[in-house]
Amino acid sequence: MKEYWEQQALSQKEAYVADLKAFLAINSIEDMSTATEGKPFGEGVALALEAMLARGENDGFQTKNLEGYAGTIEYGDGEEEVGVLVHVDVVTVGEGWITPPFEPSIRDGKIYARGAIDDKGPALAAYYALKMVKDSGLPLQKRVRFIIGTDEESGWLCMKYFAEHDQVPRIGFSPDSSFPMTHAEKGQINPTLTIPHHVPAGKANGWSLVSFVSGDQGNSVPDKAVAVINFDHEAKDEAALQEIVGQWREFLQMHHAAGELEQTEAGQLQFSIAGKPAHGMEPFRGVNAGTLLASFLKTLSFEASEFSFLSLLSDILQEDHYGEQLHMACEDEVSGKLTVNAGILRYNQQEGGSVRLNIRYPATISCQEYVEKLERRVDELGWTISNLRTSKSHYVPKDHPVIETLSRVYEEHTGLPAHLLSSGGATYAKIMSAGVAFGPLFPGKESTAHLANEYAEIDDLLKAMAIYAHAIYELAK
Ligand SMILES: [Zn+2]
Repeated sequence: MKEYWEQQALSQKEAYVADLKAFLAINSIEDMSTATEGKPFGEGVALALEAMLARGENDGFQTKNLEGYAGTIEYGDGEEEVGVLVHVDVVTVGEGWITPPFEPSIRDGKIYARGAIDDKGPALAAYYALKMVKDSGLPLQKRVRFIIGTDEESGWLCMKYFAEHDQVPRIGFSPDSSFPMTHAEKGQINPTLTIPHHVPAGKANGWSLVSFVSGDQGNSVPDKAVAVINFDHEAKDEAALQEIVGQWREFLQMHHAAGELEQTEAGQLQFSIAGKPAHGMEPFRGVNAGTLLASFLKTLSFEASEFSFLSLLSDILQEDHYGEQLHMACEDEVSGKLTVNAGILRYNQQEGGSVRLNIRYPATISCQEYVEKLERRVDELGWTISNLRTSKSHYVPKDHPVIETLSRVYEEHTGLPAHLLSSGGATYAKIMSAGVAFGPLFPGKESTAHLANEYAEIDDLLKAMAIYAHAIYELAK
């Protein structure tokens, strides 16, 4: 079987590459300014969805557009269903592109464009795979549903809408990750911790935290922090100021950090510091500018709620990537350690302090139990939780037939062992009770998803296409 699917995929090369170029040329970044009825995420996303559905219609499949939120291309008519879940929206482009992100360019066997690997290249490869299965004329027992999402990179409203208006398949895969396959995805706990501003009148030292701003997304490590402080007028002599400047320089040096200290017109001191950005699911890869700045400021003399704010950041959250100080540390065999990212950190004298956390918990632990641990600890620290959002984890056991089938197909095509992977992020696979993220990135290959000069290797996409066709057949036969 392997040779058959490989030959079929290779014979599609020319048509696939031409199709992919046209597909990638559609700018499908979510754009709410052009959103209308039937196009809930804007013009570009709608165009990409329609292009995919038109292809299905031309090839003789049954298709459906769910009011622009999602689309389906169907094959077969069994009771049971196999899902193949893809998305056609892409992230924003950023700086540093060698060729324009929506003018696909092929260099060295790689196709460069926004969406090449995430997820239009693999989505189209999986669609071609479905067409190859249809053209093979091989009999199937199950119905195959190719489901196209449009809001994967933002709010997942597409899949919410789909689940409310259609039926989600129980088994299947999403070609939106890496080979061999991801069978466990962490869940999330997203709380905002708050404390009101309160400082007793007539305090001795006269230090006050006027404002503190760091980060703007819960799921990213803040790469910049700025704080403005007032300090006591009595003590504000040149010597005291010089001492702070000296300590600040030493601190920056010790932490290999870039920062500045300025005296504002109002005589206040403004501190700013740079960190290193990283995805919130891997906070240990970054340097959190907010907690770092707080660990310096805490050495100065603040009181009451200002001190609490700086203490929470510096004593509890600074480099506490695994939640030890939050009394939440845990791990499991399939998905590793719980992680904590402090993504949005704010203080001002009207609203007090707030800290948005993005906590990712191992796939097999109880979310409720860890929410309770968090609540206890936050209470103990004198803070309050507001705006708590959680999302469930996802886990398909090793011995599930879907995993056995996909492993067999993968091993046959690559000659490599199908080690199971876990992830701190989420893919559409988690919507299906037995769904796994399956490819398209092969082991050892660099991932350029969300980066400038995103690319996919054309031969790898064709190899993935053969694997997807084989897998669809094996799951649905
Ligand atoms: Zn994706």
